[in-house]
Amino acid sequence: MNIFSIIILGTLLGTFFIKLVADILNMKAAGAVLPVEFQDVYDQEAYEKSQNYLRHSTVFSLVAAAFELLILLVFWFAGGFNFLDSMVRGLDFSSLVTGILYIGILLFLQGLVSLPFSIYQTFVLEEKYGFNKTTPLTFVSDKLKGVLLGLLLGTPVLAGLLWFFENSGSLAWVWAWVAVAFFGFVLQYVAPTVIMPLFNKFTPLEDGELKSAIMGYAKSVDFPLSGIFVIDGSKRSSKANAFFTGFGKQKRIALFDTLIENHTVTELVAVLAHEIGHYKKKHIVIAMFLSIINMGIVFFLLSIFLNNRDLFDAFYMENLSVYASLLFFSLLYSPVEFVLSVVLQSLSRRHEFQADHYAVETYSEGSTLVEALKKLSRTNLSNLTPHPFYVFLNYSHPPVLQRIERIRRELSTATF
Ligand SMILES: [Zn+2]
Repeated sequence: MNIFSIIILGTLLGTFFIKLVADILNMKAAGAVLPVEFQDVYDQEAYEKSQNYLRHSTVFSLVAAAFELLILLVFWFAGGFNFLDSMVRGLDFSSLVTGILYIGILLFLQGLVSLPFSIYQTFVLEEKYGFNKTTPLTFVSDKLKGVLLGLLLGTPVLAGLLWFFENSGSLAWVWAWVAVAFFGFVLQYVAPTVIMPLFNKFTPLEDGELKSAIMGYAKSVDFPLSGIFVIDGSKRSSKANAFFTGFGKQKRIALFDTLIENHTVTELVAVLAHEIGHYKKKHIVIAMFLSIINMGIVFFLLSIFLNNRDLFDAFYMENLSVYASLLFFSLLYSPVEFVLSVVLQSLSRRHEFQADHYAVETYSEGSTLVEALKKLSRTNLSNLTPHPFYVFLNYSHPPVLQRIERIRRELSTATF
């Protein structure tokens, strides 16, 4: 054991323990009495179902996380990282190919470990609460497409990273940063038109009351839309959502078919007004900027810990390599990543309030956002009373009751 093993082991166990505490508090915070606000969309039976769903999914994710952690620790302390390294080196490929194989095999093994959990989640957990619509065929084809996409997109990125860090000296981290940031930018640009349609059907919203209401609102806030699409979310789950993708001329709004089914026209426009709020308040640009900054810091620190003998000793490695440095550094960085994620979640929750505010401020029927949020909570069996510590660690959106309270307050002071 050296200082690096202690830091990494401490972080893995520490974050697991913190999450465990948050999960327990969260389950205890789920009260038996339905909050008054929701009495018009829930009945006691549905509320009890949502609480069972919370308990079942919490215990499930704890078991999955504990098992995956255990496998990682056994692999680590049994010398698995070095064993695999000597095996791959034995094949005698160039260092670039060796690196891609090494990391590729580890990712494949990780996928294999999580596969039974993924199957359980879809076909047992989500099925039991009536959410699952995924057929075994869709499940298998999703997994295969995921692997192929990972190979197609991941291999060149990994090859580029390894090449820069092996060949371009002390400024390698800058080149790697620029290249990966550029790649990410291109990917975001093509994702809505090339990648997402591989998984879902995007149908342009047909002419009618909903489309003209959306277009009318978008025009009133000067928001050019290249398309409004309905996506077949019902192919996998009855849960509902709406999202916004792309930027520049590629801006698209996608509404789940499951969302359209359950909501009135004004509710749907209010949901879209919220999404447009994210764009208008520059939340998408801010998130992208922060992730690019984070990436730069990661690559700079990585360049400092490249081929660090002590770090390799912590994993019982005989030979140094850039590819294994990449992997071990990502584990060493995890405490920073944990803190960063908490900070970013908190920023995201603020952005959600701002987007709600935007919707209420710019849409004359903004008050229907409250109805939309309530119905969405019911459809998705959301936890209505999460524990504040759990929210602090995990929630990218504020608890729905807080959002409703805030919207009501703003409505009472707003003048239309
Ligand atoms: Zn939002």
